[in-house]
Amino acid sequence: MSRIKVLPPDVRRKIAAGEVILRPVSVIKELVENSLDAQTTRVDIDVTNGGKHKCLVNDDGIGMDRDDAVHATERYTTSKISNLDDVERINTYGFRGEALASIAQVSHFELETSDGVRGTRIEIIGGAIKGTFESQRPRGTRVKVSNLFFNLPARHKFLKSAAWERRLIVETVRTYALICPSVSFSLSENGRSIVDLSGVDSIEKRISIMFPRSLADVLLAIDVNISGVRIRGFCSRPDFSSVHHMHYIYVNSRPVRYSRVYRTITSTYQNPKNPPAFIINIEVEPKLVDINIHPAKNEVKFRDERYILDLLAQALKKKIYTKTTIVDYRRIDSATAVDKQTKRDTRFVQETVVPYAPEEKADIVADKDTDEFWQIHNTYILSQTKSGLIIVDQHVAHERIIYESIMKGKHGTQSLLFPITLDLTPEEYRVYKKTKSILRELGVEFKEFSSRTIVIDSLPADAIVGRESLVDLFRELDGLGNLIKDKKEVAKVVACRSAIKAGQKLSANEMQSLVDHLFACENPYTCPHGRPIVIRVTLDELATRFGRG
Ligand code: ADP
Ligand code: MG
Repeated sequence: MSRIKVLPPDVRRKIAAGEVILRPVSVIKELVENSLDAQTTRVDIDVTNGGKHKCLVNDDGIGMDRDDAVHATERYTTSKISNLDDVERINTYGFRGEALASIAQVSHFELETSDGVRGTRIEIIGGAIKGTFESQRPRGTRVKVSNLFFNLPARHKFLKSAAWERRLIVETVRTYALICPSVSFSLSENGRSIVDLSGVDSIEKRISIMFPRSLADVLLAIDVNISGVRIRGFCSRPDFSSVHHMHYIYVNSRPVRYSRVYRTITSTYQNPKNPPAFIINIEVEPKLVDINIHPAKNEVKFRDERYILDLLAQALKKKIYTKTTIVDYRRIDSATAVDKQTKRDTRFVQETVVPYAPEEKADIVADKDTDEFWQIHNTYILSQTKSGLIIVDQHVAHERIIYESIMKGKHGTQSLLFPITLDLTPEEYRVYKKTKSILRELGVEFKEFSSRTIVIDSLPADAIVGRESLVDLFRELDGLGNLIKDKKEVAKVVACRSAIKAGQKLSANEMQSLVDHLFACENPYTCPHGRPIVIRVTLDELATRFGRG
């Protein structure tokens, strides 16, 4: 007898359903998407036992007439596409026509809907229709799903605790609520309200209701539109560091998991230990996105991925590393009181970016009172800003300045009045041989004398290096191993070795010059190794800590 058998249709259907519906949150996601596709103004959700006993979603959308209601619960029935070409134009969450049928296959299912003319109620248990009834209800749709996986014990076994399942549901509801701010969302469990959000007219407003102020306040708005790709959303300032759960990625408003997008965003911040907060919606022509990768539709792929990721990185860099801080810094004035109105207006800073220009720097330098810098422990520089104060770590600040200047190439070199002669050990000499061409490119110039004696006669601008540091430099370059051929890595070592150290006293002028140069950098917030350079403390934070606010 043949070992291979054809599975009976009901088994096939159950298996297929289990691919779309994995757990209560999948039910909620599909039903919420249907409500949003039906242009609802509110989505009300009620669950019991983390959705394991019951998931109910009610909306006031367009509803369905009786025929559609019956069709809706059959497999591959959808009102959203009619042929393959339509998939390329898709602008709804659903299009596979599988969700309701799948859910109804593995639960006790009840659909009640009305198009505003007539109401219909359909009851299905494990895929079998138990009855279709007339019903009274206002326009909209209510779907109640009880005893999920009652007939699929293998799946049921994999469900976790009610608290766990509930957490997934809450997060999913929040994810849709963020991107659809005009829709009201409520979620309750056993009559206890967990989420309750009225419709608002912007994502900003929704953010400010859903997240703590300390997070909402550090967000920068992004909105760029380049050749058909629009990138919109919010991302945290690079100096922001706090525990948070704000990493939302959407493609055409569809919440997605897209690890390359995630990595592009986090790596732009150059600080892996402190992931940024962000909500980013990438809008592209539907035909440039493949949303068919996963039945749950939360994995997508751009057809032209490299291009879009590059745009995203550019847009973020421009936003987060343009010298917004210069604005703050330049406006330093003796009045410390924060103008609440301006503060509110700049909460989602968008247009306040002032590109750095040398003549402006001259202004700042001329206008400023040197009293406004303090050095503490010969390590940190403090300065008053309009919104509070900044603390700059002098070593990493200098490291960043040198790093950027040497990465720009040779033009920023300084000839040493007293060239430094070094007698290298055989080891150091080996490293020197290996790195000298890169070091030359970075602005370190040498002359070679007799064996193992070299003379360094020019260094990158801004670098302050003594002999000892130069010897250490070769030792450290050796420690790079294979990375020694990577210009960036070598530049990091050179920058670190030639930057002023913690513990070095600085004059007021030196502090001023350091801060000025720092804010002229492309990225004044993190050192080449990813450590923060500037910490901001706002007056609000101070007020809170002193119990004033
Ligand atoms: P899809 O969303 O992929 O089309 P579903 O199985 O989720 O497939 O839904 C099938 C169809 O039922 C939808 O295309 C839509 O016409 C209708 N429908 C489902 N839910 C709703 C709702 N809440 N309001 C109005 N129509 C709905
Ligand atoms: Mg659907």
